[in-house]
Amino acid sequence: MNIKPTEQDNSETFYKTLVESTKALPWQVDWQTMTFSYVGPQIKEMFGWNVEDWAGISDWAECIHPDERDRVVENCLEQSMKGVAHEADYRILVRGGDYIWIRDVVHVICNEKNEPISLVGLMFDIHAQKSAEEELILLKQELEVLSYQDCLTGVANRRFYDAFLVREWELAKRNCSAISMIMLDIDFFKQYNDCYGHHAGDIALQVIANTLKSWVRDTDLVARIGGEEFVIIILGSTERKTFEVAERIRIQIEKTPIMQNGGKSFLTASFGMGVIFPYISEDSVEVFQQKVDRQLYCAKQDGRNQVKMSMLTM
Ligand code: GH3
Ligand code: MG
Ligand code: MG
Repeated sequence: MNIKPTEQDNSETFYKTLVESTKALPWQVDWQTMTFSYVGPQIKEMFGWNVEDWAGISDWAECIHPDERDRVVENCLEQSMKGVAHEADYRILVRGGDYIWIRDVVHVICNEKNEPISLVGLMFDIHAQKSAEEELILLKQELEVLSYQDCLTGVANRRFYDAFLVREWELAKRNCSAISMIMLDIDFFKQYNDCYGHHAGDIALQVIANTLKSWVRDTDLVARIGGEEFVIIILGSTERKTFEVAERIRIQIEKTPIMQNGGKSFLTASFGMGVIFPYISEDSVEVFQQKVDRQLYCAKQDGRNQVKMSMLTM
């Protein structure tokens, strides 16, 4: 196609050919009447609509995805009134009911008083690019969840626990609130593995993790911080309440049957716990953890299947 203008060429033909051979949809709106004075024939290929389907700007607005409609229309009118060129990414309804992402680039033609006379724009199909971006965002979110999750039990992993504790420690300092920690370690788990096999041991870890999850609130944290070691962080609680939670979980673990090869087995766990007010305590996070760990060790020493409490750490 030769679209080079010559003296003989009618310039309107030249520009019309140029505009209608682009991959984007050109359009023009008369500001006074808010009607389309021009819509490129590309509307058919891009959206499946006919040129006549878009008479006024309400026809266009109705095709915008409801989630974006108000924002896009308001922004377009606001910028146009100021005579400012602008662009927006939004989804537009195509014939058949689907939406596709487009980028609408708008220029404002003004009179000498800087009042808009008409809007001239191009709509680009950016659906493939947007879909790829959305997929990437979803993948990143999934990866983020996975990198903080213990893949065997689905509870938080050590990495998340470390970050969570540091963050909550600082918040508790500012809010003058308490942090409770319950550490537990399954009793004689090596023997369990030796007796039932490693796979059965994995199932037991999942059952225990589920028990822990079912006993804490959404705002608390359950994490697996070692092979058969878990930790629970409870925010803003008291020693008595934390002890009650630990004791209830201990009893629940003790009486929860773990199904193995058609038979039932049972496990117990030993617990260490402590409560701290970081804003008045001289202990660091590490020292506090060591104190709770020490209680867990005492629970093991004293015969297992029990909760030992470190006195309120100020
Ligand atoms: P204690 O009562 O003193 O805690 O004794 P224990 O046998 O539980 O302690 P020990 O530290 O000797 O053994 C822990 C066992 O946990 C050894 C290891 O095989 C098992 N273990 C650690 N991680 C996993 C896991 O992911 N899956 C399975 N099945 N076993 C695990
Ligand atoms: Mg252990
Ligand atoms: Mg153990």
